[in-house]
Amino acid sequence: MRKTAFPAILALAFLTTAAAAEEPSDEAAEFVRGNVWSILYHEFGHALVDILGVPVMGREEDAADALSVVLTNEMWDEDMARTTAWATAEFWLQSASDNADEEPAYADVHGLDMQRHFTHVCLFYGANPDARGDFVTEFELPEERAEGCADEYARTAESWGLYLDEIATDEPGTSISMDVDPADSISIVLGYEVEGLNERYVLPEGLTVSLESCGEINAFYDSATMSVTFCTEYVDYLWEQTEAMGL
Ligand SMILES: [Zn+2]
Repeated sequence: MRKTAFPAILALAFLTTAAAAEEPSDEAAEFVRGNVWSILYHEFGHALVDILGVPVMGREEDAADALSVVLTNEMWDEDMARTTAWATAEFWLQSASDNADEEPAYADVHGLDMQRHFTHVCLFYGANPDARGDFVTEFELPEERAEGCADEYARTAESWGLYLDEIATDEPGTSISMDVDPADSISIVLGYEVEGLNERYVLPEGLTVSLESCGEINAFYDSATMSVTFCTEYVDYLWEQTEAMGL
């Protein structure tokens, strides 16, 4: 389990952000940090489907979202896991609000924002129902869904676990690589978690992670290059969300 050393690194990282006009609040920084990790875990899910040949029965996007919750739950102590899960739950609420005037994207490969929100809340709650009842209350997860969440999480964790066990290691590896820019706080945040994944997992083939401008709000896995690209526009969008949320 990863620990609590990160906040100090986070603070240092954000202090060195020359681009920020004002230093962000702790909550805003935690929101961005949490979502950057959740998105990395989600893209890691797409990478595992490709590299390990994980069978996906249903939407791959749902499987990737589910892995994100499994890793959030397993990589961190309770406080850090909660902060990360909170950030993602809030992200989907804010995204739904941002897109409220548009026709719902029924044909999209992803579920609707509010569906992703509730499934995220359900799985995170279901991973530890005794300690996380406040997620059900705060995010108004209906009781009829909440009562099945422990089973939903158990099935999800067991399914992903079959493949995570295959790549688990006690010896930190280097199969996931990223060039971290020490002057860029988000690069540091991403690189820290790439290192975290390397501490737990060794992939049979190399995966690269990069943070770069791509002209759209996106993050994606490319099977041709076995790479995860995190677009800086996505990071900008996260910061915009913190403003809209008043964090
Ligand atoms: Zn995806």
